[in-house]
Amino acid sequence: MFDALKEKLSSLLSKLGSKGRLSPEDIDSAMRELRRTMLEADVDFRAAKDFIAKIRERASSAEVLQSITPSERISAIVYDELVSLMGKPAPLIISPKPPTVILMAGLQGSGKTTSTVKLARHLKGSHNPLVVACDLRRPAAVEQLRVLADGAKVSFYGPENAGDTDVLKVVRGAVKYSESHMNDVIILDTAGRLHIDDELMGELKSIAEVLPPHERILVVDAMTGQEAVNSAKAFHELLNLTGLILTKLDGDARGGSALSIRAVTGVPVKFAGVGENTDALEPFSPERMAGRIMGMGDIQGLVEKVRAAGVTENAIKSPGKIAKSFDLEMLLTQFEQLEKLGPIEKIAGMIPGMDKIKDFRAEDVDAGALKRNKAIIQSMTPQERHNPKIIKGSRRRRIAQGSGTSVQMVNQLLAQYEQMRKMFKSFSGSGGGRRLKSLFGFGR
Ligand code: GDP
Repeated sequence: MFDALKEKLSSLLSKLGSKGRLSPEDIDSAMRELRRTMLEADVDFRAAKDFIAKIRERASSAEVLQSITPSERISAIVYDELVSLMGKPAPLIISPKPPTVILMAGLQGSGKTTSTVKLARHLKGSHNPLVVACDLRRPAAVEQLRVLADGAKVSFYGPENAGDTDVLKVVRGAVKYSESHMNDVIILDTAGRLHIDDELMGELKSIAEVLPPHERILVVDAMTGQEAVNSAKAFHELLNLTGLILTKLDGDARGGSALSIRAVTGVPVKFAGVGENTDALEPFSPERMAGRIMGMGDIQGLVEKVRAAGVTENAIKSPGKIAKSFDLEMLLTQFEQLEKLGPIEKIAGMIPGMDKIKDFRAEDVDAGALKRNKAIIQSMTPQERHNPKIIKGSRRRRIAQGSGTSVQMVNQLLAQYEQMRKMFKSFSGSGGGRRLKSLFGFGR
């Protein structure tokens, strides 16, 4: 996501950076290029125009033009304006009086059913959500919700009989069910359609009358660009939406909808879908998005992931302390914790500066290496893990055999361990990015 936008912005800003002091003409040509870049990313043209006008005004101030590092000032301004373009973060509304009712709407294929379960799973830590199948026209839709909810261990309610078509009966049944099962959040997965039509709107309105929702959320597919923005506008006029979930932001969407949907519709994006699995949902954070676009990494996202995975304090102890007690047992724990964070290539992309590493490509990250290295350490005796120095020739052969790897791979792991031990000592010094690169085993 945002790859092209990110690349163009970065080259535009570094071009400015190479100039030293800037003239009003330099700003003019940079703003023209910025405008083209935004439009190519499929940002709504009115939103792009306002965005550029604000940046131009701030960038043309004497203070910026006369500074010694004008391009850095402009980068900061672009970041600021990206954040304000996406608006203030808007948390989910939770009613002080349970149950909180969330109505999910969306066109077919937008990711509505998946997002319903993702949202329930996201809330599970602090609530007891119930997802309700209200798309009765397609029996497969009910089944899809049931299967996804089962997989995510989320409570499900659906029609009693396969042929039931009375959606209001299901909604009333869900309320009763939630009372007896202590569900404090009810998420209604309503029918999807290919187009907005009167029948769909009528159904949504009658559901809302029987069970007034606190949140009316529209799920939109970011891959559809300005189409997403247009359908959000139309749904908002009819339903008075309270929030949006933008899905498929993990794909190669150009990002224009993420940037401009709020400015155009006035409806805040509350969550972003970033994968097919039911755990791939992030609270939408304009700062985080802007940071990603500007190539500043995603520290906030990384910290959240670390927290969610329950990674212990151990992992974030001071490097100096780690260096003293760092043995292979500890390395194994680190591998296990890394695994909990999710696919390694995603995590690597969240580390600031990673994209600046020459020839770094997320797809080059060797995901299998983590599993192999774990197996190697698991094949060692406790004594070997604590004192890796004793692992000589015959032990290396035994370990290779036990872990189904090769002596060469064992050698590699031990060399890496040694490198890391040294690295922990000097981690705060310069060149941390390069050392991180070898830590993760990039460039097979
Ligand atoms: P619905 O028809 O709106 O209920 O859409 P579904 O929930 O069935 O999703 C349609 C397709 O999009 C499915 O194949 C989902 O796995 C996929 N999908 C949904 N959300 C995301 C997302 O955030 N990222 C990716 N890559 N795929 C998604």
